[in-house]
Amino acid sequence: MMRRSAGSDVQRMFTRRLFCGCLPAAASFVAAAVTSVSTARAQSGECAVFTAALQKSITPDQAMERLKAGNARFVAGKSANCDMLAQVRGTAEHQYPIAAIVGCIDSRVPPEVVFDQHLGAIFAARVAGNFVNTDILGSLEYAIKVAGVKAIVVLGHSECGAIKGAVDQVKLGNLTSLLANIQPALDAHKVFAGEKTSHNHELVQAVAETNARLAVQAILARSPVLKELADAGQLRIAAAMEDLKTGRVTFLS
Ligand SMILES: [Zn+2]
Repeated sequence: MMRRSAGSDVQRMFTRRLFCGCLPAAASFVAAAVTSVSTARAQSGECAVFTAALQKSITPDQAMERLKAGNARFVAGKSANCDMLAQVRGTAEHQYPIAAIVGCIDSRVPPEVVFDQHLGAIFAARVAGNFVNTDILGSLEYAIKVAGVKAIVVLGHSECGAIKGAVDQVKLGNLTSLLANIQPALDAHKVFAGEKTSHNHELVQAVAETNARLAVQAILARSPVLKELADAGQLRIAAAMEDLKTGRVTFLS
């Protein structure tokens, strides 16, 4: 028996309803049918809502590869463009994410967009300068130990305002104490060619990369919970940088 597509059914019904003068009913039927198709799409391919079984089947390496594949789609202009309302319905009761991102608050680097991930796929902890502190470490421990995440990426980026502020030794309200968290990365580049200001793009980039790497080291040094999982091969942690000019994420480790 020949299978008919949902689209052809919708078109046939819509045409018939138009002739019987039942336009409002036809419109609601079309909306319901489109929702049904969207829901089906939301449950397959890149838009598949993560279930407990799917999360359990994904290894730490595969979780990292999914992030890299998502960024490749984003850079190529081929993001999955999942149906968000279908994603809301699919994740309303549970979440089984596969990765956690420690990222900057910068408006140009939203992790879900950069890695082309749908609702329920990643935890995102964001703070200017993407460093870790006790609260973010606690958030990561929840994401990994409680919610089953398999990979952590510390995502720095080019032309980071927080890094520039640290380089320029900015003093401003609570920002002063926030920028102190970036000082260790700055200290690692005391000997650096060129001027010691944010106009030195090479210096800003070098400090940003070191800052991301130091955050990975801090996660392992300050969280015995996460180090134990990493040592056992149940968790992968990596530092990465996004280039704002291209959207491309380069992994540093
Ligand atoms: Zn930033």
